[in-house]
Amino acid sequence: QTCYGPAISRIFGALISIHGDNKGLRLPFKIAPYQVVVIPIFRGDDADTVLKYAEDIQKTLRKAGFRVHLDKRDGTPGWKFNYWEMKGVPIRVEVGPRDLKARKAVLFRRDSMEREIIDVADLKKKVTGIGKDIDKNLREEAESKFDGLVVDADSFGTIEDALDKGKIARIPFCTTEMEGLPCDEEIKDRTGGEVRGTRIDVEEKPDGVCVACGKVATEIVYIARSY
Ligand SMILES: [Zn+2]
Repeated sequence: QTCYGPAISRIFGALISIHGDNKGLRLPFKIAPYQVVVIPIFRGDDADTVLKYAEDIQKTLRKAGFRVHLDKRDGTPGWKFNYWEMKGVPIRVEVGPRDLKARKAVLFRRDSMEREIIDVADLKKKVTGIGKDIDKNLREEAESKFDGLVVDADSFGTIEDALDKGKIARIPFCTTEMEGLPCDEEIKDRTGGEVRGTRIDVEEKPDGVCVACGKVATEIVYIARSY
């Protein structure tokens, strides 16, 4: 079977947004080079004990299979917070002298910028849960952005309208096998857009006929302009 037009997926949606916000990147937990960064917070006297506590936390998380970095550099905690937020590290663990005494830690999640105080005994469970939740949250955001970018169309006119507004048109199409090539070319001539492919991650059942040739549609394809 000869097909043209690359298959597209939700990954496309994910790439559109790559999850940034005005503070920098927001990496999905699953793929982040560092999933967790540990920031020790101390002044003078507490340095050794807090650092030891932070190292223990790093060890515990590493043993649980997470990619963890302990930021021991000089520099204020606030500066380090900003630094790692910009890099998009999904979870930050903050530990200071008070946390140490209470066997607690502060967990911060980059996607929603929320903080919570947890028992260190729950660390592994919490990081696992929040990590999953971050990925779900970012995926849903990307999907809704993708959906907001797509407009259903069923004629050359409505395709052109959608493309003029910077959107992607979703249309019923005869076939992405070679017989469909002339239809792609006609769409290109009349709207300036091209068949970018079908979705590979979900099966989409078309309704109606091919916008170009009028034959019964067998596929849903996405039309976009190239930039
Ligand atoms: Zn056709």
